[in-house]
Amino acid sequence: MTPLHLPLHVLKFGGTSLGSAERIEHVGQIVALAAGDARIVVVVSAMGGVTSDLVEATRLAAEGDEAYLAVLDRIIKAHDEPLAELPSEQDREQVRAAYQVWSEELEDRLHGISLVRECTARTLDTVLAFGELVSSMLLASVLRKSGLDADACDARRLVVTDDAFGGARVDRESTAERFRGHFAATDTLQVVTGFIAANPGGETTTLGRGGSDYTAALLGADLPADRLEIWTDVDGVMSADPRLVPDAFPLPKLSYDELMELSHFGAKVVHPRSVHPARERGIPLFIRNTFNLDCEGTLVSED
Ligand code: ASP
Ligand code: MG
Repeated sequence: MTPLHLPLHVLKFGGTSLGSAERIEHVGQIVALAAGDARIVVVVSAMGGVTSDLVEATRLAAEGDEAYLAVLDRIIKAHDEPLAELPSEQDREQVRAAYQVWSEELEDRLHGISLVRECTARTLDTVLAFGELVSSMLLASVLRKSGLDADACDARRLVVTDDAFGGARVDRESTAERFRGHFAATDTLQVVTGFIAANPGGETTTLGRGGSDYTAALLGADLPADRLEIWTDVDGVMSADPRLVPDAFPLPKLSYDELMELSHFGAKVVHPRSVHPARERGIPLFIRNTFNLDCEGTLVSED
């Protein structure tokens, strides 16, 4: 049993942080270190570029353009290396078997779309789920190698939304209830798929592009967690746009309100919707750079 006094931390890793076998391994080390003194819940995006490629493959297929096959090939190739490098042999077989099923399903679905030359938002969401399902499975396997008891968790069983496919609204009450039930019943470190959810009928929905931050913020608010960490590829929220202002620096501290204001001006470090759940419960939100552990990042809190 996990000792009760351990704080609970939700760590979310974006697509760039999970962009290759080596990067997934690196994320595994960050999580293993964090698990030394807290109970950890991990939330992941798809591997970098995968969601955009899934959108592109679907668009081409719906136009009846065979070029969708090349994009599908790129999606499969992106996962080949991390799959090949999976640690233990037994794990590798299991993960590969699940991957095989999902990738065949993806292929069939895209083929179907290319035949009918049409794709609804409903069907697109089902296609998009592939990215997070695979990345969560890959990271869970890497964590098991470092001795952690970890499992991928399909958020479609937990996050309940309406039918607004492509940008669904979360039923906060049912979702909170499911989160609490699920996490009360397990001690295994859960690697939760960000971005994907389901309507009450169990059909796949998504929370809108970049929605993994929102999944993490909901978990942070509803469990509730002692802190929420968004791990990304920049040092934090910058004082200015670094492309325009060369000596821009990461702001050490911000209030929730300041972060919201900055998001409106295009500082897209965290998804603006994810600020609300964190603020509701006063959960401190840390923005950290996966590739620069020396930088303390930005802390967003009430004051
Ligand atoms: N994978 C999804 C996207 O690229 C969700 C996310 O990354 O937050 O939009
Ligand atoms: Mg992303």
